[in-house]
Amino acid sequence: MANEAVLTPQGEDFPQWYQDVVARAELAENGPARGTMVIRPWAWAIWEHMQADMDRRIKATGAQNAYFPLFIPMSFLEKEREHVEGFSPELAVVTHGGGEQLAEPLVVRPTSETVINHLFAKWIQSYRDLPMLLNQWANVVRWELRPRLFLRTTEFLWQEGHTAHATYEEAQAETLQMLEVYRAFMEETLAIGVVVGEKSAAERFAGADRTYTCEGLMRDGKALQMGTSHNLGHNFARAFDIQYLSAEGRRELVATTSWGSSTRMLGAVIMAHGDDHGLRLPPAIAPHQVVLIPLAEGEVAVARMVDKLAAELRADGVRAHVDSRFHLSFGRRSVDWELKGVPVRVELGPRELGAGRATLVRRDTRAKSPVPLDGVARAVRGLLEELQRGLHAESLAYRDEHTYTVADLEEFRERVGGGGFFRLAWCGKEACEQTLSEGTGASIRAIVSEPPPGPACVVDGAPAAQTVLAARAY
Ligand SMILES: [Zn+2]
Repeated sequence: MANEAVLTPQGEDFPQWYQDVVARAELAENGPARGTMVIRPWAWAIWEHMQADMDRRIKATGAQNAYFPLFIPMSFLEKEREHVEGFSPELAVVTHGGGEQLAEPLVVRPTSETVINHLFAKWIQSYRDLPMLLNQWANVVRWELRPRLFLRTTEFLWQEGHTAHATYEEAQAETLQMLEVYRAFMEETLAIGVVVGEKSAAERFAGADRTYTCEGLMRDGKALQMGTSHNLGHNFARAFDIQYLSAEGRRELVATTSWGSSTRMLGAVIMAHGDDHGLRLPPAIAPHQVVLIPLAEGEVAVARMVDKLAAELRADGVRAHVDSRFHLSFGRRSVDWELKGVPVRVELGPRELGAGRATLVRRDTRAKSPVPLDGVARAVRGLLEELQRGLHAESLAYRDEHTYTVADLEEFRERVGGGGFFRLAWCGKEACEQTLSEGTGASIRAIVSEPPPGPACVVDGAPAAQTVLAARAY
């Protein structure tokens, strides 16, 4: 029992810590088919809060939700050359159905550009139909050879936005607007400090003109791509012949975008905030923001007071839960909610009740403090706000303390294994990008809009045009 409560410390073995947390906090399990994932109720409830918040932000930009089919004719993917080349190695293909070989194989969607753009061609006739702004919540399948729960699974859940615009400039503005929606969600809701920037040509989405990304830094110093937004230019419009009649009566190609964020963000929350005692959930996405734990069974006055406090908290809009699982010891119940990352716990026993106070425990610092019973609701509300802000501040500080400027390739190679973002000057050539990756396992995570830290590319000394952040990544 005692052993069960112990997680592998992060500093000892971070990947093992991650696996321990995912299992012990009952977040997810591997499905019977390799690469698939079972999302358990606690993680699913976190996802529902994330989804609701993200959905609200997406709709605020004017996009509407719709749903498109899981199966896509193989020929659709082949219409955009770069798209099919990029996705081919990851495709799951259905060749049989209803006991017969299919005339044309069907692809289980790895993403839905092709099917949605096929319908854009049908739905968009005139400039009055533009912009067309759609989003879908769905599962997608990308065959994964080295699966890792939440981070890389063959099937995962996400939202994918797809929009069509009259001009390239409008598509670019939409791409950047959605990048900002993602950044704000990650900072404000997930409380994770992220870096935003553009992907290099080598890291671009297959079929995109420009790809932008939000990258978080996990507590082992590795980067995680948490959401991407793509300007697809006229590539898909050309492939699917999406034309509209302009106000001047000319036939023009639309410009399209796509943008996505997935259940991978659950992995980000675990790895950006978690500590040696388990998850630490930002209150904005915590299924229970506060759990009230009566110390012992059969104490009627204690039970009544706990129910009263829970009712007060709920009336204030706080997600409060009472844990009366008396078949478990008090300590066991406490550890359980700590492991699951509940932001605040309220503990109450007969002695405390007699003294007119309860004990508040905050998950971020694990500090305990006595609070008068009539002040519990107010104190909890205050703590929840403080925790949301505090986790974000901690994440920003971690990111900034682990972002280093390096002046030459040698220094980069020596230090990159220690984790963190490495800011360096780059000339923009793919050969130099490859050199950075060789032997380091690192990659350019984002081209950021900052003046280069030096006049010359750290690899070949050519004039530096861009500032990049490079890191080892998931
Ligand atoms: Zn260079």
